[in-house]
Amino acid sequence: MISLVKLSFLKKGYIVVKRMEFELKEGEKAVQNIAREFAEKEVLPRAAEIDRKGKFPSDIAKRMAELKLFGLPFPEKYGGASATMMSYVLAVEELSRASASIGFLSSAGLITMFPILYAGSEWQKEEYLRPLCSGEKLGAFALTEPTAGSDPVSIDTTAVHESEEYVLTGRKAFITNAAVADIYVVFAYTDKSKKKDGMSAFIVEKGTKGFSFTKMEDMMGMRGCIVGGLAFSDCRVPEENRLGSEGDGFRIALATLDRDRIAMSSIGVGIAQACLDASKKYSKERKQFSQPIASFQAVQFMLADMATGVEAARLLTYKAAYLADKSERITKEASMAKLYASEVAQRAATNAVQIHGGYGCTKECPAERYFRDARILSIAVGTSEIQRMVIAREVLKRDAQ
Ligand SMILES: Cc1cc2nc3c(=O)[nH]c(=O)nc-3n(C[C@H](O)[C@H](O)[C@H](O)COP(=O)(O)OP(=O)(O)OC[C@H]3O[C@@H](n4cnc5c(N)ncnc54)[C@H](O)[C@@H]3O)c2cc1C
Repeated sequence: MISLVKLSFLKKGYIVVKRMEFELKEGEKAVQNIAREFAEKEVLPRAAEIDRKGKFPSDIAKRMAELKLFGLPFPEKYGGASATMMSYVLAVEELSRASASIGFLSSAGLITMFPILYAGSEWQKEEYLRPLCSGEKLGAFALTEPTAGSDPVSIDTTAVHESEEYVLTGRKAFITNAAVADIYVVFAYTDKSKKKDGMSAFIVEKGTKGFSFTKMEDMMGMRGCIVGGLAFSDCRVPEENRLGSEGDGFRIALATLDRDRIAMSSIGVGIAQACLDASKKYSKERKQFSQPIASFQAVQFMLADMATGVEAARLLTYKAAYLADKSERITKEASMAKLYASEVAQRAATNAVQIHGGYGCTKECPAERYFRDARILSIAVGTSEIQRMVIAREVLKRDAQ
């Protein structure tokens, strides 16, 4: 049972305490169990190898498809599981506890499917959302460019309308699932003079003439995910592949990032929980000064901080998912969860390495992998600085928060 207390400060000066109580539904518990069993039996034994090889684990992606893990929070009508966002975060936490790369792979699915659900036509949902939900095809979300990361309004990619096609020209950078994905949601300007109101989104299929892949990155963490660049040169995309209307792109991107930030926070919770699990076990086994290192207060305090961080990050993540399930605005809550869980995961990973001592600095020790994976979280899907800017903007514009 989870209980959140929300304080609302009314203009008259009264403080009203609204108690929001919610319990995991039977279906959510079932999803959590399926994800946990899969993660423990099939992902965890492969986690170190996935990290070491830095190759896309296609066999694991295939199993995730069989278990319907890709399309979890998407309608059954399009091949999804019609599960709640809460179910989705529970599943991503379990996957990430075993291997953050696999949690990240799941979030790359969400970030591609959501724009199609949110803004796609019925034809686009049948043609593109359905195979993404089933896991038959993989997706990628392409917003970032070599010269535009935190400031996506400064992208240079253009889409020129010519008869019944759009001609895409430009480059994208740091795209998760680059080259392994089949379906790409690509952001480009149809009218740059209108700034963000002139940005549009397009579905581009792998193999489209004029669409190629550039540099694949050798990332420090989440190494089971392929991250690389895309190039568009005289790439002709049918008009019917535009998502929504011309000028809807920025709005689609922001709504999608809100959702994906919840996914990133569940990855953070999963990594932090893994750090706590490993640190508890090791500190009880490792002896120095003739006693388990868990008997030293300095080590106990690190464990206490980790456990507290995991719980707090989990509650923020659940709250954001809960609000998403109620179709409420989640911009502030998703950014808070993402910011906090990223930082909790990094602190937990630093302390996990510390508790494991010299062994913690070796590639043999899982804490070393947690440390590198956690570092990615405060950069991908908007840096911590950008999350703070979003939160501050939301807090300042809303009287009651
Ligand atoms: C593993 C990984 C996967 C990714 N996958 C995708 C993907 O699938 N699709 C996609 O589109 N992108 C993806 N990205 C890109 C990611 O979203 C960007 O890296 C991120 O938004 C930051 O942009 P940047 O790297 O250009 O950094 P920059 O924007 O250059 O930022 C550099 C530093 O400056 C700070 N900074 C910038 N502006 C401000 C400001 N106004 N105030 C204060 N500080 C500021 C930043 O916080 C950061 O610390 C991925 C990145 C990584 C690492």
